[in-house]
Formats: sequence, structure tokens, C-alpha cells
Amino acid sequence: MLQALHPVELKGVHIPHNKLTAELETVRMPLPSKIVLPMNQHVGAACVPQVGRRGHVDVGTCVGHVNARMTADIFSPVSGQVTEIRDLHYSDGRSDRALVIKPDGEQTVDPSIAVPEVTDYASLVEAVRHSGIVGLGGAGFPTWLKMDCDLSGIDTWLVNAAECEPYLSSDYREMMEHPDTLLEGIKVCLDMSGVKRSLICIEDNKPKAIELLREMAADDPRIDVFVLPARYPQGASRVILRNVTGRSVPRGGHLTDVGALLFNVTTMSEIGRYLRTGMPLVRRRITVMGDAIERPQNVEVAIGTPIGEVLEFCGLKEEPRKVVIGGPMMGVTQVELDAPIVRQNSGLLAFSHELVERPQTTACIRCSACIDNCPIHLAPISIQKAYYKHDLEGLDRLMADLCVECGTCSYVCPARQPLAQSTRFARAALRAEQRKKRGRG
Ligand code: SF4
Ligand code: SF4
Repeated sequence: MLQALHPVELKGVHIPHNKLTAELETVRMPLPSKIVLPMNQHVGAACVPQVGRRGHVDVGTCVGHVNARMTADIFSPVSGQVTEIRDLHYSDGRSDRALVIKPDGEQTVDPSIAVPEVTDYASLVEAVRHSGIVGLGGAGFPTWLKMDCDLSGIDTWLVNAAECEPYLSSDYREMMEHPDTLLEGIKVCLDMSGVKRSLICIEDNKPKAIELLREMAADDPRIDVFVLPARYPQGASRVILRNVTGRSVPRGGHLTDVGALLFNVTTMSEIGRYLRTGMPLVRRRITVMGDAIERPQNVEVAIGTPIGEVLEFCGLKEEPRKVVIGGPMMGVTQVELDAPIVRQNSGLLAFSHELVERPQTTACIRCSACIDNCPIHLAPISIQKAYYKHDLEGLDRLMADLCVECGTCSYVCPARQPLAQSTRFARAALRAEQRKKRGRG
């Protein structure tokens, strides 16, 4: 049994967990009236629609593909007809093409669906490439691309089951309801890659999952459960890596540079499921919560289900003041309820007028709480000042690009300064500048 390999360095904060849905079985939502499938549900190049208007699709039909390396194909979760190909506009200014599919209710499976043959690591990566699996914890990075790396220095495959965001319990339900596919995913990854060990990293507020997975992994000495203290943002990749292995990723580097791979727990379980069935990623579980929700629960939905239909399924006590996709710390406000649940979404929160406080910002009192609690040891208030002055050199010195956008600085600030927002913008500005410089060089 593994506990800490070294004295765990703690930063971050205690936040009320509010995981009231954790012990409720996942409910499968019936098919919605329509499916809206954006062509960019991942980090990388947007897919191109592979079916035209009025075209027929089956469950598992590839409807989005592009000839690019950094991308992940998109598959239909229903059988039915494409009724429209339209533009979607997001609240952050981005836009995307989307296929709208009307389900026929038959759920006919695409005849091309077959269990993939995996005989070595290259065939495993190739199989995952055709699965549509991306980082399901919210990152959306194509999973096959993460796997397609030089394995020679990698000794640890971490499975991120921290789920440190308040409210969210979809990863927890995955561990409790599908520990078999999770362990199958881990075992095949270890078998094919030759990586020596895998640690399933779980916060200590999930004792049932810790016990269950320890019991089920007992026959494989390569797999263990690593218990972490429940502190936010324990699940951020740099934080979990440091707290489990004691290693730090160099600036501009990747986890693989320090011998580790890190997959979200539902992503790993989805690999196990895909290798069993051959059905690509077409459904996912999301936690639906918030004080405006009548029946908070974990719901398994067809990817592309409109947000409004999920809210209707769970019931609304009142018109929500704010709808958030993701968790309360890192989630994004959603104003368009016709927008769909996409494959990297793990939470849908709806809050009443009463709960959504409009913070009054006051002057910084120089208490240093934002600096003391930043898990990456950044100085958020200095980053904010540099960003307001458009001081890119200052942002570079302050290493704003390392921000993991966890929101802790805003949460702890007594002056209600919009620190997380400004560090997010600062990070984007600095990264754009770095890309520009690389282009010139
Ligand atoms: S600066 Fe970034 S990493 Fe640090 S607390 Fe704020 S949001 Fe989190
Ligand atoms: S936490 Fe807020 S008040 Fe305190 S130093 Fe940071 S910005 Fe200023």
C-alpha cells in the first residue's frame, strides 16, 4: 500500500466539497429531440463534417474528421438524419461548425463497429486514435497523441482520480460503477507500453473508491492506489505530479520529460471500454447540480445533447441566474442553453439569483493570500498588474504561462480582485507572444 513517497508539499485551499450526488447511481437520460455535434470538441484542429445535410448516420458513425495530427474524430451517438450544418457561437468569442442530427429512435449501430485488435503499443495507440477519446477531465487533449510519445524514460503512469472540484462526482461514479473497465484500461496500457507502475491518485474524501480499487487491483503488483489529502486544486497536472512523485515539470516542458504520463480516470476507463466493445466515445456522464436544480444527479447523456434538455430532465426549481459548464472553480458560464454537452464536459451547474453573488471589488490590501495559496507559487496580484500595463516582459518574468487557471487566487482574495480572470488573459497573451517569437526565430 502506497501513501506519500516523500513529504507531500501542500498548497491550495480547503473548499466545501458539496458532492451531494456522489452516492447516487448514474441515471441514463433518454435520447434528446436533437443532437448538436460541434466539430471542435478537443485541443487541436477542428474536424470537417463527413456527412452532408439529409445524410443518414448510425450509432458510432464517424461524422467529423480532418487530416491533421492534433485532432480527434467525432462520432454520432444516435442513428438518424442530419438536418442541418450550422455555426455555433460561444460566449468567449469562438465559433464552430456543428452537425444537427434528428434521432430516429432505432439506435442502429454502424456496421463498421468492431472490437479493435491490439497486439503491441503501436496498435494500441492506433486503436485509441480511432476511438474519439480525449482528456475527459476537461482538458480535451487527444488521448492517442498523448500516448504517442517516447516511452524510454517513462516509469510511472498516473491516473488522476482526485476530482478536487466541488460539486463534481462523475469521476467518482466511474470508479464505483466501472472499476473493471478502469483496471482493464490500466493493465493494457502497462502491458503494451512496458511502463512499470501505475498509481491511481485519489483524494482521501473518497474512502469507498480507495477501498474498492485497492481490493480489485490487489492481484497486480504494478498497480496501486495513492491517497492524497483533499485540497484544491489537487487534480491540476503539475500539482498532482509533484505531490505524488516529487517531480516538477520544467517550464515549457511536459510530464513525459520527467518520466510520467497522466490520464484522467474516466479517460482511462473509456479506453478499457472501447477495447471491449469497439464503440467510440459517444456518451458521457455529467454531474448536474446547483441550487436551481430540482433533482441533482449524475446523468449519462448522448454527447451533443442540448444543455436545456439536460436541465429539463433534472428539473428546475426556478429560472437559473447562472448556468456553468464544469465545476464552480474552473467552469465556464454558459448563456446559450441550445448549446450541447461536448465530450470533455463533466459538470453542469445551475444557480439561483440568490446564490449568484455579484462581488464588489475593493482595493488590494496586500495580504498576500493569493500568493500564499497559489499551487504553482505564482504571484497573481503582480501578474494582474503587469497584465493591466500590457507588460509582456514582466509577465514572462512572473511566469504567467505556468498558471493552471485553478481560480484559487480569486477564491481567497478578500478584496474580490478578478485575479483568476486576469491571470487567464495574461497567460493567453504571454503564450501568443511566445508563439510569435518562436515563429520569428
Ligand atoms: S495564479 Fe493561476 S495557478 Fe495560481 S492560484 Fe491563480 S489561477 Fe491558480
Ligand atoms: S489576496 Fe487580494 S487583497 Fe490579498 S494580496 Fe492578493 S490581490 Fe491583494
